[in-house]
Amino acid sequence: MSRLILDHVSKTYRTKNYMVRAVEDVSLTLEAEETVAIVGPSGSGKSTLLNLAGLVIKPDSGRIMLDDEDVTELPDRRCCMLRNRHFGYIVQDYALLDDESVYYNIRLPLLYQKEIPASEHRRLIEEAAGALGISDKLKTAAVKLSGGERQRTAIARAIACGQPIILADEPTGSLDGDNKKLVMDLLINLAAEKKKSLLMVTHDLAMAERCDRILHLINGRLE
Ligand code: ADP
Ligand code: MG
Repeated sequence: MSRLILDHVSKTYRTKNYMVRAVEDVSLTLEAEETVAIVGPSGSGKSTLLNLAGLVIKPDSGRIMLDDEDVTELPDRRCCMLRNRHFGYIVQDYALLDDESVYYNIRLPLLYQKEIPASEHRRLIEEAAGALGISDKLKTAAVKLSGGERQRTAIARAIACGQPIILADEPTGSLDGDNKKLVMDLLINLAAEKKKSLLMVTHDLAMAERCDRILHLINGRLE
């Protein structure tokens, strides 16, 4: 069970020619077992905000707290450990290894999770695949999957390690209507059954409405 707090967090990207204030002064709390959707148009800073929340990038200012511990300035190694322990990350457009099997794709985060012995991997992978209804695909190469199956594989990968917080970046973004609903049902049910919290970003209000709470992000700011 984890509680995540972002407190006045900002992130600006600077390149040689331009500067983008991607996230500006955002504060939010994700309680244990809560599901929150962040809605905003493309370019509004959703992915940046999720990467800040998931300790993938550091804010320029503001604090991030995980279970009352300030994790804003932690050294990379400790940050990495906390990230693996607390977050299952469903990245935008799945990022599957196409030539590898579904089994191996789901296994990936387990290979970085040193606290789980290798002897447990098969059981955890089969359990995650079962929860997403893709048990019969474990030996299939990712490249041969349909869009919906790819997304379900990405979700199975995000829950295999059992982390309490699921971060999802446009989890239904590239799916058609039926698959959208199916994947959203799976995510919401998973969160409830396994007592996880979910922080999801999307530009799809209908999907967001399945969450406990909706926050609107416009030009990097919560409205
Ligand atoms: P969203 O996920 O809502 O589409 P992003 O967080 O990806 O928004 O991007 C917010 C803004 O920050 C956009 O203007 C984008 O071009 C810019 N941006 C995102 N990542 C980078 C980066 N690594 N370097 C420079 N600019 C970036
Ligand atoms: Mg994005």
